[in-house]
Amino acid sequence: MNNSPPEIRPPAPACASRARSAAGARTAPAFADLHLHTLFSDGTFTPEELAGCGARCGLAAMALTDHDTVEGCARMALACRNLGIEFVSGAELTAELDGAELHILGYYLDAENPALQTDLKKFQAVRQHRIHDMVARLNRLKIPLRAETVFALANCHSPGRPHVGRALVQEGFCASLDEAFDRFLKKNRPAYVPKFKISALEAIALIHQAGGLASMAHPGLNRSDEVIPALAASGLDGIECFHSKHTAAMSRHYLDIAARHHLLVTGGSDCHGFSKGKPLIGRVKLPAVYYDRLKERHQAKTAAAGNGQQ
Ligand code: AMP
Ligand code: ZN
Ligand code: FE
Ligand code: FE
Repeated sequence: MNNSPPEIRPPAPACASRARSAAGARTAPAFADLHLHTLFSDGTFTPEELAGCGARCGLAAMALTDHDTVEGCARMALACRNLGIEFVSGAELTAELDGAELHILGYYLDAENPALQTDLKKFQAVRQHRIHDMVARLNRLKIPLRAETVFALANCHSPGRPHVGRALVQEGFCASLDEAFDRFLKKNRPAYVPKFKISALEAIALIHQAGGLASMAHPGLNRSDEVIPALAASGLDGIECFHSKHTAAMSRHYLDIAARHHLLVTGGSDCHGFSKGKPLIGRVKLPAVYYDRLKERHQAKTAAAGNGQQ
């Protein structure tokens, strides 16, 4: 599925949707990828490898949105700077509203923000406990996987189901990651363990107090359109209209919703590296006009906060 232009034409560029020349002015159509994972959560690339892939894809801007962590952001910022790519520090939070699971992307997060650090540590602890719970369930199913094997493979503070899946493949219990999810890890499968989730409204507030902007991730996968008005009323800033698993029709649908609720438009590949065949980076190219609007909103908010108008 390819939901990049020209299937969907972006609005006319405001001014800056062009790639930068050495002099700093953009000279060719430019694109961003604002949904990316590294091995600081369940991706397989280092920040440096990911930035290198972005450069080869011709990206002008990239955001790192690892699950429940901003630990990779400092390295990714440096790698992007060295490659002339604009960087946005972010994270993807798992949240819920009215019983529906939602993923909320935070952009321009201050990694040093104390409340953000405290809450991310809590979410990571929940993830680590959940690995033990999933392994216990697998053991009850006579799959002798060890939690230590999963933690060694994950080698990060924010482990998740893909790490359990990869460990199942590595230890020969499953032939593929797909099989691991289909047999054990998907919702309603026997080793699935639900994750504690903050409410989507708390996630938005957490992101805002850390200086960030909040966007609803891959709404086409969650099919929870009914919660969007409440989220918009609670300060949601944007919605991820472009995603590697969105069809062109889905992207158009969410562009329409974004316009109706005055939400910013975000987009990204949700690349997890080599976890499943070819990396997805490059599959979604968010026209820079949308990225520029996100950046301008952040700059305006930062300026307003500086003037005591937050
Ligand atoms: P978790 O946050 O631990 O519940 O894991 C969610 C992550 O698992 C998602 O971000 C995807 O990266 C991955 N995932 C979800 N479903 C599948 C699937 N069927 N096959 C492979 N990976 C999946
Ligand atoms: Zn993931
Ligand atoms: Fe997600
Ligand atoms: Fe993601």
